[in-house]
Amino acid sequence: MKVIILLGPPGSGKGTQAELLTEKLNLEYLETAKIGEERIKKAKKGEYIIVDGKKFYFEKEKKLWETGKLWDPPFITHLMGEKIKEVFEKERGIVFAGSPRTLYEGEKIIPLLKKLYGPKNIKIILLDISAQETIFRNSHRRICQLMRHPILSIKKEFLNLKYCPLDGSKLMKRKGLDEPDTIKVRLKEYKERTFPLIELFKKQGLKVKKIDGEQSVADVFKDILKAI
Ligand SMILES: [Zn+2]
Repeated sequence: MKVIILLGPPGSGKGTQAELLTEKLNLEYLETAKIGEERIKKAKKGEYIIVDGKKFYFEKEKKLWETGKLWDPPFITHLMGEKIKEVFEKERGIVFAGSPRTLYEGEKIIPLLKKLYGPKNIKIILLDISAQETIFRNSHRRICQLMRHPILSIKKEFLNLKYCPLDGSKLMKRKGLDEPDTIKVRLKEYKERTFPLIELFKKQGLKVKKIDGEQSVADVFKDILKAI
C-alpha cells in the first residue's frame, strides 16, 4: 500500500495525475477541501471537536469556509487524520494533490502516514513547471460544473467546446481564481508555502522527486509511475 503526495504550482496537473493514479493503483484520492466540506455538512448543531485541548465548532469553521478564508489548521488536520485512519483500515493506499498545505499539517500528518504505511511506501513527487507556463495554463483553463474537470482551451478543437466531454456538464471559467493577477498571487503563496514543506519532508527523512510537469499528461504519468 502506497501513499503518493503530489506537489506543484496551480496548473501543474496535480489533480489530473491524482485521478489517473487513483484508477491505475486503486488508491483513494484525498482532497483537503472535500473532506472539510463533507464533514461540515454532516455536523449537528453546536457540534465541536477538541484538538490539543481547544474546542473547534463546526459552525464557526463553516463560516470561515463560506467567506473564502482558510480553516483553522488544527481543525482540518484533525479531520484529515481521521480520514487517513479510515482509508488505512480499508487496506487502501492514498494519493494527495496539494496536501499537506501547511507546515502544521505536514508535522502532524507525515508521522501518522509513516506509522501506518511505513516510510518506504511514502512517495513525494514535485511536478515542476515554470511560472510562465503556470500563468499560461491557468488563464486558458475552464472547468466543468459537475466534476470540475479541467479543460485547457489551447488546442483548436477545445476552443468551441461548451460541454465537458467526460460528463456533459457545462464548461465555465473560474471567476477570480484564474485571472492573471490572482494567479501571480497564488503562485507566490504556493512558493512561500511549499519550499518550507519540502525542507520539512527532507528533515523527516523523505525524498522529494522532481518531475518535468511541462510534458504531456501521458508522459508525466509515465514518469510518476517510474518514480514510485
Ligand atoms: Zn466534467
